[in-house]
Parts: sequence; structure tokens; C-alpha cells
Amino acid sequence: MSVSLGETADLRLKASHGLAISLRRGERLRIENLFGTQVVDTWLLAGDDPFEHSSMDHTRSVNSNIFLEKEMVVASSLRRPMARLVEDTSPGRHDTLLCPCNAAIYRELRCEGYHRSCTDNFHEALGAVGITLPFTPASLNLFMNVPVAADGSVERVAPASRPGDAVVLQAEMDVTVVLSACPQDVTPINGTERTPRDIGLAIRPARGAPL
Ligand SMILES: [Zn+2]
Repeated sequence: MSVSLGETADLRLKASHGLAISLRRGERLRIENLFGTQVVDTWLLAGDDPFEHSSMDHTRSVNSNIFLEKEMVVASSLRRPMARLVEDTSPGRHDTLLCPCNAAIYRELRCEGYHRSCTDNFHEALGAVGITLPFTPASLNLFMNVPVAADGSVERVAPASRPGDAVVLQAEMDVTVVLSACPQDVTPINGTERTPRDIGLAIRPARGAPL
């Protein structure tokens, strides 16, 4: 499913599923953690070249930080600013370190049969808008709570966000945003109830644009 401003301004990202959204430069995407417990794996692709993708290593380098905080940018694989985190009512600390979940992780967790994953959601959502990528870039993991200790070790704990906490990403270029409401229901990364939830979305025009 693909949406853009004009078709609809408010929608939901279904639990355990993905969605691709086109944003023009300056448009803003509000991502609301309706239940407070849901991680959203996020990628951006340049509108004119899907091979220019959000890069977590360049994002960490540009921001000199391992988390994405308010006013920081998501940088591309060509180190161009793709989006800026312009609002954040959550406690922040959005993870940039850990990989999106995939089939191998669910096999490690001894899940039997097919289990949805953020990696599959990424490719499924892109396929719906006619884009094929032969790889999966590292994801920006909104609301994902991965404390990093002084010795470099990381923990995976439940989100610290509260119901209704939201972030707003402002496009710094024309982009395709790909979102995955993470299907992880084995570990507590999506809350101690281990239940994937819906996410609220709203697309807003560029500042100053007529509503
Ligand atoms: Zn996931």
C-alpha cells in the first residue's frame, strides 16, 4: 500500500505489517505510538533513486550520536539529509544500532513456520509501489529501547514511550518512507505483553503550505 498527501492525511500502520509512503520535500509524517509499546522500523529512499537509502552509519556520523534525537537528521548513503526529527514527545533514544528482524532471527528464537518480519515488511511494502531492492538497509528503529552500557554491551528492553507519544519526521528531500510495525512477539522489545500493535500515522503539508 502506498499513500501520499492528497489521498489521505490520517491512517494506520497495521500491527506486524509494513507501508510505503511518498513525501515531498518539506512534508511531515507524524508517527504515533498509540499503545506506547510498539517499535517502528523505518527506512527512507530517495524519491528519484531508491538505491540512495537511509544509512545508519552516516546518520550516527553526521549527528555524532548513536541515537536519533530531536533536530537530528537521517542521512543517506550519499550522506545527504533525507529527513529531520522535528518533534518528539517520547523519551527518545531511538535505536540506530540493531538490525531489522528477519527470518533467521525467528529461526534462532525457535519459531516454527513462517513468521512476519521487518525485513519482509520492507520488501513487501516496496513491492506494492513497484520498487525492488536486492538488499535490506539498516533500519532506524523508532521507539526501540536499546540501552548501551559503558562497556559497549547493549540490552533489548521494552519501549519507554507512553500511549500517544509521537515523532514527526520532516522530509528534507522527496523520499519514499518505508515503515514496519515490528512483528516481534517473542522478546519484550514491543512491550512486556509481547503483542504487536497498530501505529497511527498522519501526513502534514510543508510548513506554510495551504491546508
Ligand atoms: Zn522487527
